[in-house]
Amino acid sequence: MRSLFPNSLTVRCARSDLRFSGSSAGYTWAWLAPAGTGSAVIQQLVRLGIGTISVFDGDRFAGSNVNRVYGSTVFDAGRAKVVLQSQQVHGIGLGTDVRAIPRHITEESAARELRSCDVVFGCTDKALPRGILVRLALHYLVPVIDMGVTIESEEGTICGIYGRVTTLMLGEACLFCRGRTSPDRIREESLPVEQREREVAEGYAKELATNEPAVIMFTTMVAAQAVSELLHRLTGFMGADRESSEVLLFLHESRIRTNRTPPNPDCQCLRARSLGEGGHQELSRTHLGTASYSVMFRPTR
Ligand SMILES: [Zn+2]
Repeated sequence: MRSLFPNSLTVRCARSDLRFSGSSAGYTWAWLAPAGTGSAVIQQLVRLGIGTISVFDGDRFAGSNVNRVYGSTVFDAGRAKVVLQSQQVHGIGLGTDVRAIPRHITEESAARELRSCDVVFGCTDKALPRGILVRLALHYLVPVIDMGVTIESEEGTICGIYGRVTTLMLGEACLFCRGRTSPDRIREESLPVEQREREVAEGYAKELATNEPAVIMFTTMVAAQAVSELLHRLTGFMGADRESSEVLLFLHESRIRTNRTPPNPDCQCLRARSLGEGGHQELSRTHLGTASYSVMFRPTR
């Protein structure tokens, strides 16, 4: 099992009796889109004693999402999601610091903030931010725990409920060579609505997935698995032989599988020249310069 932190960096906890390891004054700052999985991750991290959380999201809360967002009420409609979650965290009273960034990480100024995170939780259902997180893990060695939930149905009948938690680190297969996202998907998401509808009709593009499923027990189960992956990387509580970098949950079958796939030799996660440039100690704070940043937005195979 590879630790998320190759050196001595550990977690600063808000409560002195809740230390994941015994030393250091490092921070764990998590990137979260605080919707279904994101809000569940936040609730767990805070109660585990995480010292500082950075929350990234440029959206405002939709009242219809109260069925899947912890801490929300029907009266929060229209409020910035990051403000809503920030108040929730402060209200818990465990002393967790919150950095609320009301912008999507697809904005350059927000993406730059990711450099100061020690661990990132990817709770998005979009391809472009996932591509950015892959770059972050590969080029700046910021560990990313990416998650997703998908519900498949045919003619109105649910036929599959799937969860995924993938840990992105240098030396592990990324989301592109695992087939979890693709440059085509990023391009399709980036198209103007009319052009995308035209390409879908012509068979050149796929229908975009709808938003994260509004089934709170499934998003919560996947979020709990993601937080467990963090704890395992920090403490090794699942045992030394548990080396997988991806967990797949077949929720409609009560099955869980794990895998550890080597990087595809043709994929960016092995080919790119600037992998890990700068070293772990400095990368998250100094190496997201303009040149590197421009690369982040051109995911390639
Ligand atoms: Zn790859």
